Amino acid sequence: MAADVFKDMQRGGHEEVVFCRDADSGLRAIIAVHSTLLGPGLGGVRMWPYASTEEALQDVLRLAEAMTYKAAAAGLPLGGGKAVIIGDPRRAKTESLLRAFGRAVESLGGRYLTAEDVGMTVADMEVVRKETRHVTGTSEKSGGSGDPSHLTAKGVFYAIETCMKELYGDPSVKNRTVAIQGVGKVGYQLAELLATADARLIIADTDAQRAMLARREFEAWRVEPDEILQVECDVLSPCALGGVFTRKTIATLRCRAIAGASNNQLDQPADADRLAERRILYAPDYVVNAGGIINILVGLQGGRKGYDRAKAERLAKRIPIALQEVFRKARAQGITAARAADELAEARLEEARVQAAKKRPPARKSRRAR
Ligand code: NAD
Repeated sequence: MAADVFKDMQRGGHEEVVFCRDADSGLRAIIAVHSTLLGPGLGGVRMWPYASTEEALQDVLRLAEAMTYKAAAAGLPLGGGKAVIIGDPRRAKTESLLRAFGRAVESLGGRYLTAEDVGMTVADMEVVRKETRHVTGTSEKSGGSGDPSHLTAKGVFYAIETCMKELYGDPSVKNRTVAIQGVGKVGYQLAELLATADARLIIADTDAQRAMLARREFEAWRVEPDEILQVECDVLSPCALGGVFTRKTIATLRCRAIAGASNNQLDQPADADRLAERRILYAPDYVVNAGGIINILVGLQGGRKGYDRAKAERLAKRIPIALQEVFRKARAQGITAARAADELAEARLEEARVQAAKKRPPARKSRRAR
């Protein structure tokens, strides 16, 4: 197994992978730091009943790498990291387990900054914080940046306007039809922004109550969850799950553009080509949904003074600028927007690598060489 971990790390370019075990609390966790070139490796901690250590390892490696790209694409002074705790959050999550995880984070001395993710809550992060300062996204009451979904929704709204400009030459969403898959924390606030800007809305949610609420509040057209991907619309906005766009679903889409909050929307990298073949404009997920980490960064920079909401709002306006750059590059080079976003992020990382190498003192020659 050890040799395989190194192979996996080499393939993804990961800097550090830490396996954490605490006998008293039963903690089994993996922390992956993908890159600290641009800043500390930021990424949430996910608690999930993984079927095997291998499954947990692959998940944490993939997620940590994605965080590096997300921060780099947004031009933020942050690197990428992620943590997974193996276990069922409904049964195995205890105070002692969360505190043991906090000690593991602390032992990395700030190279990894943790935050809430699937299976964790803001309240859990307050417990983790008892053991480490390197926790982000804690409640606004305790000086943290709190729930980031309002800023994520704002970023998605700006991205939708950017898509409109790219398609029709006018960013206005007025009388444009936007279909939102999932009206949870982000999707609901996005629907509110769109309704205020006079867009026409189609929504779906597996939670019937949430769907009814959004339908009533925003005079939206409600469809069943298995219909939302096939509705005719200007923009489809996935705000529920990852892996939405597959060979099968792409064949039946009737949208002109895609811009949503979900992470890892494409099932396979080749799905970006499939979308391009169908002439559907795809706004890369990690460029669109950067509002979440922007919110965290502002919380971090606030230090003792706390979170500055106006600053966060200002920084979120960089999202449409970054997306315009992605579309411009894609057009100029005849590549997909997904590829263009990856290349822009990779160029920023390469530049940071060169700068870091320049700052490093030259290695001293060994005695024997002299
Ligand atoms: P959430 O859990 O509050 O909302 C998701 C909603 O989708 C829920 O209402 C759920 O019932 C619904 N849903 C689940 N499966 C569905 C399906 N098949 N069809 C229709 N609806 C379905 O989550 P959220 O915080 O709003 O995040 C939405 C997505 O955006 C997630 O993928 C998340 O990882 C991503 N994201 C969120 C943030 C943030 O700031 N919250 C930041 C970056 C990325």
